[in-house]
Amino acid sequence: MSSPRRAQPEPAAPAALPEVHLDWRGPQHWSDRARECRHCGVTTPLRDDEGKPAHKVCAERALAAQQADLADRYRGAAPAARAQR
Ligand SMILES: [Zn+2]
Repeated sequence: MSSPRRAQPEPAAPAALPEVHLDWRGPQHWSDRARECRHCGVTTPLRDDEGKPAHKVCAERALAAQQADLADRYRGAAPAARAQR
């Protein structure tokens, strides 16, 4: 005879990422040479604040994920798995 099943708690929905908008209109964010984005690997002429190749949208997503993880840690929760791409 099987035991009655307990109701399993619903997994927490992934928290929405905060919106991050970078201003990369300056010439320091552009290069004549396309190189692989540090986040996704697709080539881009864009450079981040450290001069490393990165798409603006990839950098914005990475910063948003960092902010969300920090907020989770501040609240004492384990950082949620978030899509990076
Ligand atoms: Zn990218």
